Amino acid sequence: MTPGADPQTVKRVVIAGGGTAGWTVAAVLAKQLGPLLDITLVESDAIGTVGVGEATIPTFRSFHALLGIDERAFMRETKASFKLGIAFENWDRMGDRYIHPFGDVGKSSWMADFHHLWLMAKSRGYGGDLGACCFEHQAAAAGKFAVDDKARINYAYHLDAGLYAGFLRRLFEPQGVRRVEGKIERVAQDGESGFVTALVLEDGRRVEGDLFVDCTGFRGLLIEQTLQAGYEDWRHWLRTDSALAVQTEGGGALPPYTRATARSAGWQWRIPLQHRVGNGLVFCSEFQEPDAARDELLEHLEGDPLAEPRLIRYVTGRRRSAWVNNVVAIGLSSGFLEPLESTSIHLIQIGATRLIQLFPHAGNFTALARRYNDRMRQDFEHVRDFIILHYTLTRRDDTAFWRACRDMDIPDSLAERIELFADSGMINVPAEDLFRTASWLFVMTGQGVEPRHHHPMGALLGDERLRKALDSLRTNIATAVNRMPGHGEFLARYCD
Ligand SMILES: Cc1cc2nc3c(=O)[nH]c(=O)nc-3n(C[C@H](O)[C@H](O)[C@H](O)COP(=O)(O)OP(=O)(O)OC[C@H]3O[C@@H](n4cnc5c(N)ncnc54)[C@H](O)[C@@H]3O)c2cc1C
Repeated sequence: MTPGADPQTVKRVVIAGGGTAGWTVAAVLAKQLGPLLDITLVESDAIGTVGVGEATIPTFRSFHALLGIDERAFMRETKASFKLGIAFENWDRMGDRYIHPFGDVGKSSWMADFHHLWLMAKSRGYGGDLGACCFEHQAAAAGKFAVDDKARINYAYHLDAGLYAGFLRRLFEPQGVRRVEGKIERVAQDGESGFVTALVLEDGRRVEGDLFVDCTGFRGLLIEQTLQAGYEDWRHWLRTDSALAVQTEGGGALPPYTRATARSAGWQWRIPLQHRVGNGLVFCSEFQEPDAARDELLEHLEGDPLAEPRLIRYVTGRRRSAWVNNVVAIGLSSGFLEPLESTSIHLIQIGATRLIQLFPHAGNFTALARRYNDRMRQDFEHVRDFIILHYTLTRRDDTAFWRACRDMDIPDSLAERIELFADSGMINVPAEDLFRTASWLFVMTGQGVEPRHHHPMGALLGDERLRKALDSLRTNIATAVNRMPGHGEFLARYCD
């Protein structure tokens, strides 16, 4: 019988793939629905994982809270460090720098966001630095970090991608996940419905199931190679298609932020961990050959490379339908957006939690799949727009790549957001959006958008009170940051 045709048919969940996506899905299913399910995960040591994906965003912490993960144990085992944001260098013009922090700016009211006060002050010549109005921004800039009961700080992590899936496996395999090692050679389908019935391994073993989660990475073994869900290609907006990844030794300063430095045909990341630094260059092969990209990456490394840079090719975009029949694709198999804002692991976590919310215990899969696909499409498009924002706002014209980014057409959804801000200082953030007001604000102002107008709320205060309010906010933040220890010092103590 076709799974989904009858209530109670979904008991056996099979996860194909054991990278970050596979073990994330296994962990959350075991934790949240474990007693109702038989969970099997199939992975192949011979194939391995993509081996990158080291920067996260604050939603990662809420997800860990859902799994009941102890922060210190996680940080010790994955050699993690704290992350307060991303420093963007050379994005607007060569030599420019701004930080996109994870924190808010001042206190907003129902009438208007706080930054309208800052905009008014700025127009009167005493606005000062926007970053000084954000605690996380100032802590990042000063290289400071602390978590305690008094200081509420919004943060994420940098982690070792090679260690994270193993960490989840050690925790959740004993909680009801059956792990099968072996290479999937064939995917068996029901002749009539096209539903997947089993994964057939190289040695002939069959792993049967009712629901299959495709976490096989870029190859999309079930969702694409078997079910041909189709792929929406976004390379006309996000032109990079290659990355070179390499690690260097740690030991130097440990900034609590990722660095994203624009290069000639893409950008370079620097992610400091406890034991080493993750580095890579994301580039567009239409504008730069891999050999030239490798030279550019090595030239700008701080510290000696621990191995030869590894080339990874990708196609930016998303699977047209992440859920088809009884297969749900999560992770790289569902699409890929370059790591500029560290969003891929978040999309895995949101895909996994949404699967639980829409879990097909009974009834028809079609309506659930439609809902799931629609929500994932919105999530991908939202992140896509936010990443394009960084490219489209560039004023660089020193290379053909940056000129192409500056001059490209952008999605209407993004064009409207930029226009709204440029015209009125307003930032429209629907409830379901991942990136909130402060994120849009820091990137747009960081890359040179100066709103022509702003909300008149500040005029109600008058110059003296407005100036005092901004001064006192900045002083409070500076005092709190001064009291904090350095990131490296805090981390060593915290993980000891
Ligand atoms: C250059 C780059 C940088 C990135 N940086 C970030 C970042 O900073 N932050 C972030 O959030 N994300 C980042 N990502 C994305 C992140 O790496 C992935 O989202 C994450 O690692 C999940 O990958 P995955 O589990 O979907 O796929 P993979 O890691 O590729 O895992 C696939 C799994 O499927 C198994 N498999 C495949 N075929 C078979 C088969 N035939 N039989 C059996 N098993 C099979 C493999 O063995 C493996 O276990 C980055 C990605 C790239 C390419």
